[in-house]
Amino acid sequence: MLRLDNKVALITGGARGIGKAIAMTMAAQGASPVLCDIQEPLLQEAREDIKSKTGQDSLTFVCDVANAKQVEETVKKTLDSKSRIDILVNNAGITRDQLLATMSENDWDSVLSINLKSVFLFTKSVSRIMMKQRYGRIVNMASIIGVMGNAGQANYAASKGGVIAITKSTARELGKRGVTANAIAPGFIQTAMTDKLKEEHRQALLSQIPLARLGSPQDVANTALFLASDEAGYINGQVIQVCGGMLT
Ligand code: NAP
Repeated sequence: MLRLDNKVALITGGARGIGKAIAMTMAAQGASPVLCDIQEPLLQEAREDIKSKTGQDSLTFVCDVANAKQVEETVKKTLDSKSRIDILVNNAGITRDQLLATMSENDWDSVLSINLKSVFLFTKSVSRIMMKQRYGRIVNMASIIGVMGNAGQANYAASKGGVIAITKSTARELGKRGVTANAIAPGFIQTAMTDKLKEEHRQALLSQIPLARLGSPQDVANTALFLASDEAGYINGQVIQVCGGMLT
């Protein structure tokens, strides 16, 4: 069950955090990972770690996910090397938190470009391949903040709400070609992204989680594995919240 033998899985932001956990988990089930991220040294560390733990070698690409030309090149090189792309995980993302009244235009634009435009760019490019294959699994990383909003995160919330919307549209466009698209909306997951939160903010968030713990990257990776599997073939256009019950 849930094996991904010989599936080519392209994961953005795959060098660390949730993206790396997804790559590791998929590789452990037989997938061939393709990692793209912004920092070369982290990519190589992730590649070595995945290889030593799963035996699977990864293709790696330094790619700014908000840059259309770099996205096209990454997809083309992946296809040249692997001949197909079965799974696309649009995971790369950033935060630039600030109250609306003081948020800079640059912080708005960066978050929308890296979190949302990237999903459009990769989906546009990879969906052509998946439609020809008549097979594909697209998993987009949203957030519960995209559903509920959050003070100080208007840019992030707008980007993740947009990720949910593009996921639903993708599901409707590609479904008849055998391609599914779903989103994961994590809650509060322990990664570099949340390590920078102040202790009082962390405690306030923890008090809202019925399971009384932060999520782990593995919690999210398990969900991504399921959505990418053949067993999830009739799940399409859905948003799965992985948040310990923080949002019901
Ligand atoms: P993370 O540890 O910061 O990892 C994100 C990765 O994406 C990093 O390796 C980062 O590179 C990379 N990245 C950033 N900008 C990029 C760009 N322009 N092009 C390519 N790669 C880029 O974050 P995470 O917590 O694993 O988050 C992964 C996803 O889950 C994000 O979409 C995030 O919004 C979402 N999410 C996270 C949480 C949470 O609690 N952690 C909750 C809900 C949703 P550098 O950092 O090296 O620049």
